[in-house]
Amino acid sequence: MKNINSVKVLKLLSLCALIICLFGCKNELKKVEISSDNKRPNILYIMSDDHASNAISAYGSRLKDIAPTPNIDRIAKEGILMENVFCTNAICTPSRAVIMTGKYSQNNGVKTLDDDFDKEQENVAKILQKSGYQTAMIGKWHLHTEPTGFDYYNVLPGQGKYNNPLLKEIGKPWKHHKKGGVKHKGYVTDVITDQTIKWLDGRDKEKPFFVMSHHKAPHGLWEYAERHAELFKDDHIPEPESLWDDKNHGPLKGAKYGSSISDRYATRNMLDQVTKGKWPTGNLDPAGMTHKELVSATYQKYLKDYLRTAAAIDENVGRILDYLDENGLTENTIIIYTSDQGQFLGEHDYFDKRWMYEESLRMPFVMRYPKEIKPNQRNSDMTLNVDFAPTFLDYAGVKTVPKDMQGKSFRENLKGNTSKNWRTSMYYRYWMHMAHHYNPAHYGIRTENYKLIFFYGLPLDATNKSSKDKFHKIPTEPYWELYDLKKDPNEMNNVYDNPEYLEIVKKLKEDLLKLKEETGDTDEKYPELIEVRENYWN
Ligand code: CA
Repeated sequence: MKNINSVKVLKLLSLCALIICLFGCKNELKKVEISSDNKRPNILYIMSDDHASNAISAYGSRLKDIAPTPNIDRIAKEGILMENVFCTNAICTPSRAVIMTGKYSQNNGVKTLDDDFDKEQENVAKILQKSGYQTAMIGKWHLHTEPTGFDYYNVLPGQGKYNNPLLKEIGKPWKHHKKGGVKHKGYVTDVITDQTIKWLDGRDKEKPFFVMSHHKAPHGLWEYAERHAELFKDDHIPEPESLWDDKNHGPLKGAKYGSSISDRYATRNMLDQVTKGKWPTGNLDPAGMTHKELVSATYQKYLKDYLRTAAAIDENVGRILDYLDENGLTENTIIIYTSDQGQFLGEHDYFDKRWMYEESLRMPFVMRYPKEIKPNQRNSDMTLNVDFAPTFLDYAGVKTVPKDMQGKSFRENLKGNTSKNWRTSMYYRYWMHMAHHYNPAHYGIRTENYKLIFFYGLPLDATNKSSKDKFHKIPTEPYWELYDLKKDPNEMNNVYDNPEYLEIVKKLKEDLLKLKEETGDTDEKYPELIEVRENYWN
């Protein structure tokens, strides 16, 4: 009798444990099921910060001849270049959270630079680790909370320094995300590569590896390595036509927004930095210049500094490629080079990112995996940073992908087997209303042919603690922009008010609302946004 009771109690306890687990750990993956293939590929994910595809020669921009990137290009030549990889929120910390979780900002909780990443949630490194991968994160982390899912990490505190950077290594108390670490002599891009190679050398060679090697460069303020001080010295960097944009790309209301090279923000921010000697070469003397000369000179200085920091990245990508070759790892390693989002290099007269325009929306993405991807491939499927995590899991043979991961694996697309149901539109949202670079909050839809953006102009969920001025608290007047990407790929002509596009606008607005809902972003919790929509939607 006693025994029967014990069995009943045990069964009851097991049931309770199961229920607690089902409800309490709904995002936890209890068991990772993997495919039977025992030769799972290594994944080496190199990501820089703010590297525009226009600054990578394989993408063929105006800068391709003057500032070639032969090593990043080599990945594309021996593998695939993806033309339309977009981020869902073009700003550093949020894009990184999307990449780790496979979830949009509204679902992973990191909408702005100030939001802390909830490290309890599932992430791609945790799943790969549970599935038997050896995992490491080296370089710029920028997600505030301690990295989880990694057997090893050594990361920059906050933004990190360009010269003699500090690195925070696993095993010590995390404390404040912007503080702590041990000084490493040298230039940051070299140091991060040294650390990546050191970890690769010391790894358990019986297991496949997943390593994230994240560079700080070419993020501002562009401090280049001393060896690149003379690079481009006597060159004239070609200007984009839209440097001389009259801001016709948006309504006149839009002209006062964004960090422009020619306008007051640039003059205030960039030239102040130069004259205060905060930039490494404070040799731009604005005295006696016409406005046009000043714009050109500012552009030259910005581009040269930026491209010098990017040159060090390319060299270091070369070091990693050599390492793979020398250690017999090339065949079975997926190597990726990308950036957390794009960057304006004077297009539309802007620097920085954040806008939904192509230059910041587009992430460079090249990848090599000789076992599965033929050389010299190009792919133009619409792919998002939310897809990275499910794609890595797919390559790793992980069959149990968490249900709340919103992206889709694009492994088949890279083999030339794009499914008929692959997405043809994407949803974008930028929350940090008027913070730092004066971009009003907006959301929008991009299809193959069009881009419709609603600048709702409200500081919703935009904590922006790090913004020094108060603009981010003040709503801006809402407005719309529409670009016909086939006729106007550079987005120079806002056709929102053109009656020829009336039906297209109507359809895009319907699709935008559908996508918003599908991705888990609803306006209903913001009465002020509903009011703005009532007044400005039609
Ligand atoms: Ca960034």
